[in-house]
Amino acid sequence: MREKPILVTKSTLPPIDEFMEMLQPIWDSAWLTNMGEYHKRLEYELLRYLDVEKIVLFTNGHLALEFVFQAMQLSGEVITTPFSFVSTTHAIVRNNLTPVFCDIRADDYTMNAAHIESLITEKTAAILPVHVYGNLCDVEEIERIAKKYNLKVIYDAAHTFGETYKGVGVGNFGDASMFSFHATKVFHTIEGGAITTSDEKLRLHLDYLKNFGIADQETTLYVGGNAKMNEFQAVMGLCNLRHLEENIQKRKELCAYYREKLDNIAGIVLNTYREDVTYNYAYMPVRILEKQCGFTRDMLFTALCKRNIIARKYFYPCINELDCYKHTFDACLTPTASEISRQIITLPIYPDLEKSVIDEIVDVIRELGKR
Ligand SMILES: *Cc1c(COP(=O)(O)O)cnc(C)c1O
Repeated sequence: MREKPILVTKSTLPPIDEFMEMLQPIWDSAWLTNMGEYHKRLEYELLRYLDVEKIVLFTNGHLALEFVFQAMQLSGEVITTPFSFVSTTHAIVRNNLTPVFCDIRADDYTMNAAHIESLITEKTAAILPVHVYGNLCDVEEIERIAKKYNLKVIYDAAHTFGETYKGVGVGNFGDASMFSFHATKVFHTIEGGAITTSDEKLRLHLDYLKNFGIADQETTLYVGGNAKMNEFQAVMGLCNLRHLEENIQKRKELCAYYREKLDNIAGIVLNTYREDVTYNYAYMPVRILEKQCGFTRDMLFTALCKRNIIARKYFYPCINELDCYKHTFDACLTPTASEISRQIITLPIYPDLEKSVIDEIVDVIRELGKR
């Protein structure tokens, strides 16, 4: 048995010399945060990398999402998905808005746009879909509905850093998109996040909000908070950006290796990849259909744990089944999300994952199937 566990992901780190070299200017200037030189440089590089018009950096992705709702000054209901990380719904609730859960599609786990119109009421203010595991939402249909009912669209794009759809950066869809640069994401700044938008007013509003609503020394325009990205975070981001393409390429190869090995096993449903999307391969989700393969997701999870391979039941439970929400919402209204959350497992994937670990995982799956 291996001593160190294999976790579902492992944070990428740049060569330590690259990071250290960039620290000297911080010591020289003694400028540690509050939109310093590295913050500006990272903003500039991310604008180009994500191919978006405007960007606002934050200390994490969750606060970025909270602030974008505050900036839009919405009230009422927000249609969202229960198949996501809790942050998505928390951002709505913490802004005194009411989440309305829309079920997901079984093929790519994103919000089922065909259900949205039936959930719209007089109180609906916005739609908050999630590009789950890097799978793009039905952005065209969501845009059509949003225009028809005059709703804002904010995408949780935490899983889609650097992806494009039909050659367009994913941060260009909707009124705004949130990216997370958490340590576990494909691109990270230790903790960090951003909002991308084409709306200059929104950009400026967010710039103020993340710094207490302060516009200049004598002017405070809004009741803001504090969610600024500091210079050390920005340095980590600038270093990581240099190695990103190479890391995504490695992830792509590992994903292909998994797919080749798992392709012909009954009851194992792999993620579908579309021709018109460039992916970042952040996750390796697999659905386990008990009837066809003879074992459950939980049995696989446990069998892997015995080998010290810690996969994740991500996302399980669904958000509307979590303790803090289950008494307020009825998960029976989103049956596909509930079912898939019981079948899904995300397997380890990160740039330096050894292929022998994938072989081992595939062996575990084959062994379970034989019983
Ligand atoms: C990571 C993540 C977030 C939160 O981002 P943080 O930077 O950790 O605050 C929100 N939504 C989804 C789908 C995520 O995966």
